[in-house]
Amino acid sequence: MKNTILVLDIKRVLIVAGFIIAFIILLPLALIGTSKEAKEKSIQLPPQENTSLEKEESALDILNGDIKVYISKEDRIETISFEEYIKGVVSSEMLVSFEMEALKAQAIAARNFSLNKIKYKCTQAKGADLCDTVHCQVYKSKETKIKEWGKNGEDNYKKISQAVDNTKGEFMYYDKKLVTAAQFFATSSGKTENSKDVFGGNHPYLKSVVSLGEEEAPKYKSTKTLKLASFINTINKAYPKANLSSKNIKTALSIKSKTEGGSVNEIKIGSETIRGVDFRKLFDLNSANFTLKFDKDSVTIDCLGYGHGVGMSQWGANAMAKNGSNYKDILSHYYSGINIKKDY
Ligand SMILES: [Zn+2]
Repeated sequence: MKNTILVLDIKRVLIVAGFIIAFIILLPLALIGTSKEAKEKSIQLPPQENTSLEKEESALDILNGDIKVYISKEDRIETISFEEYIKGVVSSEMLVSFEMEALKAQAIAARNFSLNKIKYKCTQAKGADLCDTVHCQVYKSKETKIKEWGKNGEDNYKKISQAVDNTKGEFMYYDKKLVTAAQFFATSSGKTENSKDVFGGNHPYLKSVVSLGEEEAPKYKSTKTLKLASFINTINKAYPKANLSSKNIKTALSIKSKTEGGSVNEIKIGSETIRGVDFRKLFDLNSANFTLKFDKDSVTIDCLGYGHGVGMSQWGANAMAKNGSNYKDILSHYYSGINIKKDY
């Protein structure tokens, strides 16, 4: 009898212990689940300061006062404040005639993009944090830009300053971490590209999204016509196994697959299959969203969009702003799942 009670007690203890262990294991998992959901929903809400996130990455961990920019044409290093640098980038990377909300979105994208470069130091900046070319981001000083703009110079600079000052210290975050790959480009084909399809990296916030109003961009459509012989030559030189000739060209060349954004993913050239992005590079095309048309002696390559197609489309951002979206709407649209937080 005593033994039976003891066995029952042990059973009860084991059952209770089991529940406690299961509770300890499952509770944090449940919390992760809800916090993830809450974060996804918080995209639509204004950013909230959350001091309990001690391990959250901060821009201030990377920024350390002034930054150094390598002015490549003059082979010298300029030391300026980070926000002044952002003004020089926004004025060089986006048209000043664009809507204020698009310029603000560009300011934040430029801030995030710069941080990664500053963290790892540009390899072409001769010891400075960043260089001033497309290798990092195009940067021009206030004086240079005002001179370049001519009679509207001062007003234009004021407009850029307003976009940067009104978003001062704001950065994009994804999963409590600073967004480091804040890619942007000029014009999409109507849809942006998944990062993995273009750069290989799988950033969760760089997903293919619809991008409306791109038709307004001057480089939305472009055409390149090449002599057939030169076209064949260029391919055979870069890919000797392709073995293209004027006789087999029409059957030897075919688009094998497309990306979610609509660009050429893989193209078959003779016995080789190459990536659409490599084909773009080979012929210096505006985008990898192309079609080929063969005539007797020539080939016509029609392209949609301008740029790599990943992240924010600048013309798309401007179209959104014209339709009443603010900079937070724009960034949340092009960088999936991010939120914006003021860091200083
Ligand atoms: Zn650089």
